[in-house]
Parts: sequence; C-alpha cells; structure tokens
Amino acid sequence: MAKVLKSLSLKTKKADAASDIDLINQFSVRKLTPEEVYCFSVVMCDNDIDREIERFTNKALDALAPLFVGKTVISDHRWRSGGQIGRIYATEVHRTTEKNQAGEPLRQLIGKVYMLNSDDNKPVIEAIEAGIMKEVSIGASIKTRTCSLCGESMGFSWSSWKTECKNHHVLGETYPSEGFCFMNLDDPRDAYELSFVAVPAQRNAGVTKAVNDPDIDDAFDALLSCPDLSEHPKFAELLKHMKQSTMSAADREARKKFLAESEKIIKNYERKYSK
Ligand SMILES: [Zn+2]
Repeated sequence: MAKVLKSLSLKTKKADAASDIDLINQFSVRKLTPEEVYCFSVVMCDNDIDREIERFTNKALDALAPLFVGKTVISDHRWRSGGQIGRIYATEVHRTTEKNQAGEPLRQLIGKVYMLNSDDNKPVIEAIEAGIMKEVSIGASIKTRTCSLCGESMGFSWSSWKTECKNHHVLGETYPSEGFCFMNLDDPRDAYELSFVAVPAQRNAGVTKAVNDPDIDDAFDALLSCPDLSEHPKFAELLKHMKQSTMSAADREARKKFLAESEKIIKNYERKYSK
C-alpha cells in the first residue's frame, strides 16, 4: 500500500457555524456554541492531474470523502509546536463546471473544518483569512495506481529508471495514437490528516532545503556506493530531491525568489505574534 501526499493551493470559504454546530458537536468533547468556533470549507484535493502527473479518479474522491470525516487538521506553521489546529466535520464531492487537464469535468473533494475560536488559534485564523497559508496537503493510503492509457498497474522501474506500466507507457510521455500518459490513483484505504502549508510545495519546491540537511547529504554520500537505502528514514525525501535535481536553473531561481518572499511574510507574522 502506497502512501501519497497531495497538495493544492488553498481555497477556503467561511462556513456558517450556527447552522453547522450540531455536526461540529459530534466531534467535540463538550458542547460548543457557534461563537466558540471558526469554521470554513476547503478544497482538499481534486481529480486533476498534478505536478507528479497523477490524479485521483472520481471513484477515489467518492471513497476518500467519508474517510476524511473526523480527521484532524494540522498546521506546519512555525508559531505552533503542537500542530493540530482543527477537525474536519463534513466532506462532499463537488462537481464543478470547469474541465480538468484530462478534459473531464473537474471534481473537488471539499472538507468542512472547525477550529476553536481561541487566542491560541487566532494567528492561524488570521493567516488563513489573510491568505498567508498558501497550500493544503492531504495524506492518503492508495492501493491502486494505474496507467491512464491501458489501465495496467504502474510503478517505478529500476531497470528503465522510469515510471511505467507493463506495456511500457511511460509516465508523462505523449503517444501519437494513444495520447498523454498519466497515473490514476484509486482504491484509497485510509485517509490521514489535512495539513496547512505556509510555503507551497510547488513544482519548484524542495530544492534549497536539501543543501543544509545533513541527513540527506549523508544518504546521498551512501547512495554513491549503491547500497540498500530502502529502509533509510529519509529515502522518500532523497528520491524527491533526486527528481528535483533534474529541474532547470530558471525553475530553481523562481523557487528561490518565492521562498525568500514567503519567509519575509512569515517572519513578520511571527514578530507580530511572538510574546
Ligand atoms: Zn499503459
């Protein structure tokens, strides 16, 4: 079973605490009043092809919806150490009028989240409303990964060093007669938390971090001697960084600029809320 982590830029809409309070109270230890909560809906994931050239099928979205009800919402933001900020109290699959990159109607999994309207959560709520939280990620356990062209299961081939199916359709390639090859993610078995990410992990994300991470550097040193790194605690990250090392200089530059700007905004915020 593969765990996947998927990110989307943050789209939230304030929800009506008064009308949702009964739903919310299913998950609270004591009975809450509408004044005590801040709630909103958020697009958690969709059926569009993402930067990893994968997408959730409509069936997967339908299956994920109930799996996320009651799951926690965490924030990677630095001003909080605990991390947990809220809980998903309802979900639904929304059918939009837009089309996704596969040319199908775009569907989104919407989660409704409540947070306590406490002093502790105030900076997070303000950050959400001010648009400083840029992205959400979901974690899910996915059983089936298949080729969009032939439906065969798809995975990384260590012999070709490519992600492909048994018919040798290569992820991200376009075939004249068959079309674009992407991966369908299906049969979710479990859903983990929803996280708010202050710095987007976009197409150009994750590169500058590798430079100062001694674990990654050590792992990379070890990699040069071709050992078994499958159990290495940072193996997934290492693979990610290797993938990103194929990124162009222009992409890296764009990311660096973005991170610097983001850092500035976060620093300002931290200054404002540090005691
Ligand atoms: Zn195929």
